[in-house]
Amino acid sequence: MNNQELIALTEEFGTPLFVYDSAKMTDQYNRLVKAFDGIKLNVQYACKALNNQAILKLFNSLGAGLDTVSIEEVKLGILAGFSPERIIYTPNGVSFEEISEAVSLGVRVNIDNLVMLEKFGSTYGSSYPVCVRLNPHIVAGGNHKIQVGHIDSKFGISIHQMRHLTRIVEAYKIHVNGLHMHTGSDILDVGVFLRGSEILLEAAFHFKELEYIDYGSGFKVAYKPNDVSTDIEELGKQLSVQFKEFCKEYGRDLELAFEPGKFLVSESGTFLCKVNVVKQTTATVFAGVDSGFNHFIRPMFYDSYHHITNISNPDGPERIYTVVGYICETDTFAWDRKIPEIRENDILAFHNAGAYVFAMSSNYNSRLRPAQVLLKDGKAHLISRRETIEDLLATQVDVVDLFS
Ligand SMILES: *Cc1c(COP(=O)(O)O)cnc(C)c1O
Repeated sequence: MNNQELIALTEEFGTPLFVYDSAKMTDQYNRLVKAFDGIKLNVQYACKALNNQAILKLFNSLGAGLDTVSIEEVKLGILAGFSPERIIYTPNGVSFEEISEAVSLGVRVNIDNLVMLEKFGSTYGSSYPVCVRLNPHIVAGGNHKIQVGHIDSKFGISIHQMRHLTRIVEAYKIHVNGLHMHTGSDILDVGVFLRGSEILLEAAFHFKELEYIDYGSGFKVAYKPNDVSTDIEELGKQLSVQFKEFCKEYGRDLELAFEPGKFLVSESGTFLCKVNVVKQTTATVFAGVDSGFNHFIRPMFYDSYHHITNISNPDGPERIYTVVGYICETDTFAWDRKIPEIRENDILAFHNAGAYVFAMSSNYNSRLRPAQVLLKDGKAHLISRRETIEDLLATQVDVVDLFS
């Protein structure tokens, strides 16, 4: 969509507004599938990135599986039409009751600690297959806030606990049909994946009934023009060779699974907001927009960079701005950013707004969540409406007599 079409959408649906391009999601999905041509590939969309039913249905229609991290996400996946065996449930720190519920729903279960695995074994024995999440202790990506594979990480069963792990598996005759790792986000280096893979595939020989190896995710996407991103085609080439050799030695053709969130949806999303005020202070020029970290927390939470363009004045002279929100707390989207001259009522576009943006939004400051629109075949479809004040009160109980 060009700038004029995006501005037209803000007139139709109001600001702020999330716009997602289904063609971009489809392209990313197809690109990954193509990179692993000749491999039994299973791309499971990590729906915590963006959990609208329309998005889940899109990926279901493409033939994707679904990666879920809570029982609620499992239920959303089933509701969107995924068959349970296409859903993998990869929780961390949940109760055994929740794991049992996932079993009763028939989804793939991925266990990431020995205590739960032992309970699983004593409850289900060999009657229900299970995947085991290993921590290969690969440190991936530059941003420590999104690394999950390091030695202090709460995720996974340490590769150094292999003896303990196999002892539990043998004692309860647990049917381990999958091995899993997920080492974090923004892994740029194909070599890091290959090293993780080597460790995982070596561990795989401890288990005789494997059907799949799940490499999790962590692909880095471009966050600005000319930014570096994971070379998916190169990864496909190199990992396929390694994986095929392993399958031959293992004696069975296994499925190779991934769980991308960011890779599939980040770049498809654009967040549009309106400039309320341009405020010159002694030190800087602030552009204040009709949104805040209630809608878009990533810059404040992870120091993440989101490219911002002024679609109302794309050819204006560039000036330096600090773009801030309307939340009554420090609420900065971008520091000292060069942007074409910003005027009141201009529409700013925040890029890479597909993953972990709406999904992490809140009602802080009693603000309403924006509408979301999905583009398909040149048409804009509303996939969630803007909230109303009634939505803010929907779960509150009116204790009529308490203070009268
Ligand atoms: C968050 C998560 C993913 C997706 O990670 P991205 O960086 O968005 O691709 C995949 N698997 C698991 C287990 C996760 O927790």
